[in-house]
Amino acid sequence: MDKDFRYVWHPFTQMQDYQEHEPLIVERGEGVMLYDVDGRAYYDSVASIWTNTLGHAHPALTDAIIKQAQLVSHSTLLGHANVPSILLAEQIVDIAPEGLSHVFFCDSGAEAVEIALKMAYQYWQLKGRPEKKRFVKFVEAYHGDTIGAVSVGAMERFHETYRDMLFETFEVPYPYCYRCPLGLSPLTCAHACMEELKTLLAEKADRIAGVILEPVQGSSGIIPMPDDYLREIEALCKKNDVLLIVDEVATGFGRTGEMFASDHDGVKPDLMTIGKGLTGGYLPVAAALATDEIYEAFLGTYDSNKTFYHGHTFTGNQLGCAVALENLRLFKEERVIEHVQDVASYVAGRLQQFWDLPAVGDIRQKGLFVGIELVRDRATREPFAFEERIGWHVGNRCRENGMIMRPLGSVCLFIPPLIVTKEQAGAMLDILYRSIKEETRERMGGHLR
Ligand code: PLP
Repeated sequence: MDKDFRYVWHPFTQMQDYQEHEPLIVERGEGVMLYDVDGRAYYDSVASIWTNTLGHAHPALTDAIIKQAQLVSHSTLLGHANVPSILLAEQIVDIAPEGLSHVFFCDSGAEAVEIALKMAYQYWQLKGRPEKKRFVKFVEAYHGDTIGAVSVGAMERFHETYRDMLFETFEVPYPYCYRCPLGLSPLTCAHACMEELKTLLAEKADRIAGVILEPVQGSSGIIPMPDDYLREIEALCKKNDVLLIVDEVATGFGRTGEMFASDHDGVKPDLMTIGKGLTGGYLPVAAALATDEIYEAFLGTYDSNKTFYHGHTFTGNQLGCAVALENLRLFKEERVIEHVQDVASYVAGRLQQFWDLPAVGDIRQKGLFVGIELVRDRATREPFAFEERIGWHVGNRCRENGMIMRPLGSVCLFIPPLIVTKEQAGAMLDILYRSIKEETRERMGGHLR
């Protein structure tokens, strides 16, 4: 613990604050459980930052890594190939939305986003339309923490510090219906917030390279788009000759109950980013997928300068690709998507119980991607103040009650490993319910009936 405090600088963490609390140091995992160095067991209710699919220390996934390591752990993909990356690319194309036929590997979701942005930007240059270089982003979007990804993100608290380093973008409202940006009712609005995108594209498409979006906004609080919304955006992009970039880093690989969230609406993006669940949450492999149309625009002679200038030292790492291959094989064999759908409908029923808690303002679910927004007053939707750290306090209660739950502000999350059973999901939701109850009872006082 002392050495953690002394040497490790944790991501997205105020270290002064971190050092005032006992850290949770994970030593091992098994299935949906994690164990700390003192042997205490915790349910992993957020799948280790939304990555874990088949559970921790899965023997087949572990074996895949060991077997690959016995052959070779890494050789470069810069100008050379390796077997697992070829097989994996084929598998990814097989399950991806139709039309996405080329896979550019990388190491993180943010990098996948950088790649998609650079590809879109360069694509229009190669097409002789260099003036199409701006991106459209959505309010409260999160696409990662590197400078390009932050530029197309819009979470004020994360982004304001770096403002002067970011490139210019256009921003449109996201359909966050619980707090409607236009103050309309979700039942009657008829997607009024689409109008801004429609107008923007009608007026400025000749300067716009692409629209980038999360089909379910994740980091802003698990906010699914209304049905058909993504399909409407796809049609607008097509009509205005603008690329549609769907960021499926969080939503990909079964998380929302289909292989990709785009599949719910039958949407075919021009570029798509994936990461997190690709390797089952075991190793850092991500990718950007592109259509033939985009890929072929980059083809040319050696000296034509059409090359896509991107690639990192560990791009296409064999260990990562091997474990991803095994993860996808087991997805099919164990019918993981059907399992997610089944458990998700059980979870939907169990979530109804949370309405008994006065602090629960909104419950949002897409598959096993669940956010419960806590509010000071359900009737007025008055939020808890940032300084109250309500989600963080509930997370601490969860920890005391044997579960890891990393919230997003005042939104509590339930994003378990996909192989969670109904029984385990029920046990996790019991802990979450109890933890919200204990924490908000103390805090809300007068508001509790
Ligand atoms: N895109 C989305 C939608 C995400 O949710 C995240 C991370 O949560 C990222 C990109 C960034 O991924 P990474 O943390 O692997 O860089």
